[in-house]
Amino acid sequence: MPARPAHVSAPPPRFPRDAWALAALELEGLLPAHAAERLRAEAPEWMAAAVVSQGLAPAGQVAVILARAARVPVASLDRVEPAAVQFLTETVARQHAALPLSATNKAIRIATANPLDYDAERALGFVAGREVEFQYALPGPLAKRLDEVYRPERSIERLVSGLGAQATIETVVEERDAGETASASVEAPAARLVDATIADAVRERASDIHFEPGERGLAIRYRVDGVMREVMRVPRSAAGAVTRRLKITAKLDISDPLHPQDGRTAARVDGKAWDLRVSSVPISRYGEKIVVRLLDPASATLKLDAIGLWPDEMAAVEGLLGNRDGMVLVTGPTGSGKTSTLYAALDRIRTTGINVVTVEDPVEYHLPGVNQIQVSEKSGLTFAAALRSVLRQDPDVVLLGEIRDLETAQTAWQAALSGHFVLSTLHTNDAAASIARLRDIGVEAFKLASALRGVLAQRLLRRLCPHCSEPVSPESLPATARPPQGFERPVTVKTANGCSQCGFTGYRGRFAIEEILTVDGTIAELIARGSLGDQIVESARRYGMHTLWEAGIRRVWTGETAYDEVVRVVGEPPVKAAVTLVLVADDDPVMRTLEGSILQAEGFVVVAAEDGVEALEQAQRLQPAILLLDMDMPRLDGYGVLEALRQRLAGRGVPVIVVTAHDDPATEARCIELGAEDFIAKPIQPARLIARVRAVLRRTGVAL
Ligand SMILES: [Zn+2]
Repeated sequence: MPARPAHVSAPPPRFPRDAWALAALELEGLLPAHAAERLRAEAPEWMAAAVVSQGLAPAGQVAVILARAARVPVASLDRVEPAAVQFLTETVARQHAALPLSATNKAIRIATANPLDYDAERALGFVAGREVEFQYALPGPLAKRLDEVYRPERSIERLVSGLGAQATIETVVEERDAGETASASVEAPAARLVDATIADAVRERASDIHFEPGERGLAIRYRVDGVMREVMRVPRSAAGAVTRRLKITAKLDISDPLHPQDGRTAARVDGKAWDLRVSSVPISRYGEKIVVRLLDPASATLKLDAIGLWPDEMAAVEGLLGNRDGMVLVTGPTGSGKTSTLYAALDRIRTTGINVVTVEDPVEYHLPGVNQIQVSEKSGLTFAAALRSVLRQDPDVVLLGEIRDLETAQTAWQAALSGHFVLSTLHTNDAAASIARLRDIGVEAFKLASALRGVLAQRLLRRLCPHCSEPVSPESLPATARPPQGFERPVTVKTANGCSQCGFTGYRGRFAIEEILTVDGTIAELIARGSLGDQIVESARRYGMHTLWEAGIRRVWTGETAYDEVVRVVGEPPVKAAVTLVLVADDDPVMRTLEGSILQAEGFVVVAAEDGVEALEQAQRLQPAILLLDMDMPRLDGYGVLEALRQRLAGRGVPVIVVTAHDDPATEARCIELGAEDFIAKPIQPARLIARVRAVLRRTGVAL
């Protein structure tokens, strides 16, 4: 490095320092004469800055015009080589409003707000020992960048003050590692920034804070109502201090940046205690990403009433929780509020005399009066092992954090089939996928059918901000947004806007929606038979189940959320092929299974009835596209069913194919007389059955 004078003194600059800028902007016709006149009288330090700050012209345009006038490029301030910075001291850089960008052996590239200052060019060239190449930068951004490069603590202070109200973190740990080498001048502001950020995030209702290093510094993002948003960017020069502070606070090992670490700490914000879960992950050459989860210990007592369900959803959930054995699953992707719902459910179940045990990884909240087991895969205490040991204590209710593998699933099913009520989660999207997943894991269909009481698929939708959402015409909604059957509430459709109350997102708070599959009767039979998830859901819908899409879309019609939010969370609306439901009535289980599998292979959805009475009841309720009817059945035979169908208006439209062992002309004639569409003699031949079914469906006008 060349020798450089200890101090460069110069007379104080005369204002404006860039008088030429005003002339250049006038020449381009960017400034009206009277504005230029006024600026000349004001004589600000920087004309360019005054033009921008007074809103006379957009910053980008001003920079381009002035760079062109000075015949230099516009500087990009994002990239500053640390090696170049060392050629200029802070004093010199500030004196000349000059920021070194990069340097070679011969030249140094410098961003300046005054590229026409030849004295500065000479002085800088002398100090750096290199030929100077100027680029133009507006005075404002340049000064900010100078702070970031030379005074990281100052730019942190600016971020802290930008967070507004005083931070009130009371319990952060004050510790200093002996081997710490960072400059002390940045440590204190970094600590203040961390505290202020946590307080700010709590007030913004964030669930977690992400500190992610990158080329352009440390990005700080909040997750609010499930959506990430960047709140600030800490300059790279100060990023290390912030990361270090976070790790010290959570008692993580700051000497090890190469391995993921987890820790925790506590903080008080505005007098309220918060649990902070801090995790560090090495992500790139820029360092570690730190995520701070903000947990409100008070929300462990979350009530089911507080998750925002509609009465029908609540009734179905309460119905499922009323079970005292078997298994209820809550499903949904990460962030769908599964855990909160499970805790709320436990809170509902936990009454005197009921012994509740949880097996979790990790234990999210501590519940008073509940025995909570922390799974530790490392030391061999797997979900399955922990569950087995828990079952020896014979609990009434078990909350099992997650079912991940066959071993856990089998133990859980054993428990559910032997008089315990098991609550657990699956990482699947909906009820249909959950049944498919459990089969994939290896749970046998008959076990599924006999122990599964229900599946709760959940999502969280953001609630439109009451302060700024605006009504829109229902006609603005696409056709896919039609309200589901049975919707009967006053219609108010609204759209998201954004105001200071909602952080300009248009939403404030969230509520849960549910797709609830209650497993009993027909549904259990479909599961036992190994029907596809879609078929199960399709028949469940006939019993009144709402899909997630329907549960979400009806909240659009009441103005609780917006259509876009439902699409964002639940996905694009389902485009469903028409489903053809076939009812098979036969007292012989072998026949039911045979006919069922033949029809299912052709894509029909099959529901079964064991006798004539059940067949009538199903025909009336489900209105199947076709009924395959056996003649010899207990309680009510085929003739009885045909007569009843003919007499009763409700079932009258259901076409019937008689399937019978009585292959004689008299029986056939009587059946046709009673209204049957067709007559097939047993034994069943698959191709013939399908051909006849399709022919009847064509005749009766059901599209195939
Ligand atoms: Zn708002």
